[in-house]
Amino acid sequence: QQSAQRVLAILDAIAVVIQRNAEQLGRIDAVAGDGDHGIGMERGVLGALAQARDVAAQGAGAGTLLCQAADAWADKAGGTSGALWGVALTAIGTALGDESKPDAQRVAEGVKQAKEGIMHFGKAQPGDKTMVDVLVPFSDSLSAAVARGEALPDAWQLAAETAQAAAQATAQLLPKMGRARPLAEKSLGTPDAGAVSLALIVATVAERLR
Ligand code: ADP
Ligand code: MG
Ligand code: MG
Repeated sequence: QQSAQRVLAILDAIAVVIQRNAEQLGRIDAVAGDGDHGIGMERGVLGALAQARDVAAQGAGAGTLLCQAADAWADKAGGTSGALWGVALTAIGTALGDESKPDAQRVAEGVKQAKEGIMHFGKAQPGDKTMVDVLVPFSDSLSAAVARGEALPDAWQLAAETAQAAAQATAQLLPKMGRARPLAEKSLGTPDAGAVSLALIVATVAERLR
């Protein structure tokens, strides 16, 4: 299926970017966390990619591919962010489905469901210094651009720029969730690792949608 091949190519690009940035993500997580965010994301995305290749070879649609990739990501990554990425990709895969060519509305709806799933599962709120601080403005910006009638590549590009700014802005926040909590003050001036990796990933997707 064509849409599954497209999603597979996007996952492949994400894996390249995560591998290229794994060391830096680990260093950011080590400032106040346990330093495993780079290696965790790398394991997760490579597991997801391997599973997605298998599923695509069997002729599955984009939705099934993403849901199976999600399970593999959570499984291989371990850690909080792995479980949350599993929740996010399952939500997007479910919203896209296998039938039609995914349109901008469905993609925006999937991202909104991913945001709601992560907030429900992880219980973090905006301001807690987590990936939620990027996911909320990203999703809102994407939905607003799609509602204005922007085509998906343009809408996603705008939202990815919002995400980049939001990730940098987490440097000023004190962590209230996750492993960084006990060393909160040490993290002032450093952005949240999960926020940075999310912004990197949505920027990579923006390039692939052009
Ligand atoms: P772990 O914290 O288990 O070592 P990672 O280092 O891979 O896992 O991921 C850490 C990132 O996960 C944090 O930088 C933050 O963005 C995100 N995170 C942690 N806890 C939560 C939560 N409850 N809700 C949302 N995101 C969270
Ligand atoms: Mg960690
Ligand atoms: Mg850990």
